Amino acid sequence: MTKRPLPLRTGSLTSKQALLTLLLAVLISVIAGCLELFNHAASMREDVAQRVEQQLAIVNGAAAEAAFQLNPDLANQIAYGLFSDDEIAQVTIRDDFGAALAEFVPDSATETSWLSQRLFGDMLRYREPLNYFVAADLPEAEVGEVELRLDEHSLTQQFLARSVSVVGSSVVEAFILSLLIIAFFHYFITRPLLKVHDAIVHTDPERPGQWAKPQLHGHRQDELGHLVDSLDHLLQAFQKGLDQRDQLHHLSHNDGLTGVANRRHFDLFYKQQWQRTQHHAQPLSVIFIDIDNFKEFNDHYGHAMGDDTLRAVAQVLNQCIDPDQELLARYGGEEFVCILPGKDEAAALDVAQCLRRAVLSLAIPHAYSSTHTHLTASMGVASTSRHTALSATALLALADQHLYHAKQRGRNRIEARPSTV
Ligand code: GH3
Ligand code: MG
Ligand code: MG
Repeated sequence: MTKRPLPLRTGSLTSKQALLTLLLAVLISVIAGCLELFNHAASMREDVAQRVEQQLAIVNGAAAEAAFQLNPDLANQIAYGLFSDDEIAQVTIRDDFGAALAEFVPDSATETSWLSQRLFGDMLRYREPLNYFVAADLPEAEVGEVELRLDEHSLTQQFLARSVSVVGSSVVEAFILSLLIIAFFHYFITRPLLKVHDAIVHTDPERPGQWAKPQLHGHRQDELGHLVDSLDHLLQAFQKGLDQRDQLHHLSHNDGLTGVANRRHFDLFYKQQWQRTQHHAQPLSVIFIDIDNFKEFNDHYGHAMGDDTLRAVAQVLNQCIDPDQELLARYGGEEFVCILPGKDEAAALDVAQCLRRAVLSLAIPHAYSSTHTHLTASMGVASTSRHTALSATALLALADQHLYHAKQRGRNRIEARPSTV
């Protein structure tokens, strides 16, 4: 099985999705936080105004009395009470002539900023008239006023402190939510997808039908399940195509009766090996093998028996060669040929001996042979190691010629030269 490195880093889809989710969550939490802050600013302004009005309503009676009586001690007490509130920066109580009976101002100038002005700039000053019943039968008369100025710095600090907690909790909520979303998507989508990817990467391209189809529990009926099924169908179809290709290749390269290489395969292989061995200055040998008196065998034992014999002969001959380097082919009829690239004449003769003995080892009776009692074969060997100037065709013709000599010299023999071996 071919193993290739993963083109995707496992989990990178998860990281992309996590990053996107986090960005979205931060964006949403910032928008939600801003909206919440906007609401918070409005409700804080309302609260502050309400509180100040309540405080003014509480002190109104006593302050009016102090203004009517022109009593600075009482006025000071009331003003001090108001001034003690952190949100109030300045308090003045005046009589009806505008003279200050009591006044509290901050030691230093109140800090102001763009934000404090935007938030509270329009509601910092309060001026409340002080009304007093001078006599039971007279209507209320204005006897002075109380004036307040709120501490915008203190109010802004309160607002900012609250903002930090609002935005902080919003971000934490968004973070927890995005973690849950990331875990959910990883478990239900990214992980199964990576499983499919892994299975495809580890599929042998020559055997796509044998891919490890991933079992995606809980996804049989959804898009992921359908994706895996479609992939499976596709890979099975590929496998069918490859099987047909192999079958066609086998049919076009092998002999139908014996299963060994056919003449076409022999021609291609011979041409290829001739060029290769010539290029590398290596020897190449050819052995022609012909079954002796096979016509008589056929005539007396029948064609079917003849076919079985051809199959058996091909099988034993094949055991004498190295199938990775060499080739045994059916050249035609009851004639076979061996190509031995890299083997010189001596090595080829060894192979020929093996082939001859292999036929004898079958011990097939041949009562009608004119030369032997059992089935035999004759062989002609030719090698480029002895005939360096020969062409590819001439080498075959020479091997055939040596086979002819073997027949003439009594059969069941090997000939490699004009003289007998
Ligand atoms: P020699 O020793 O000179 O080779 O004699 P031979 O009889 O073997 O040679 P010949 O060329 O006269 O006859 C070959 C015979 O091989 C003829 C044919 O009956 C038989 N033959 C060829 N192809 C097949 C085949 O596919 N199946 C069967 N059963 N016989 C075949
Ligand atoms: Mg023959
Ligand atoms: Mg023949």
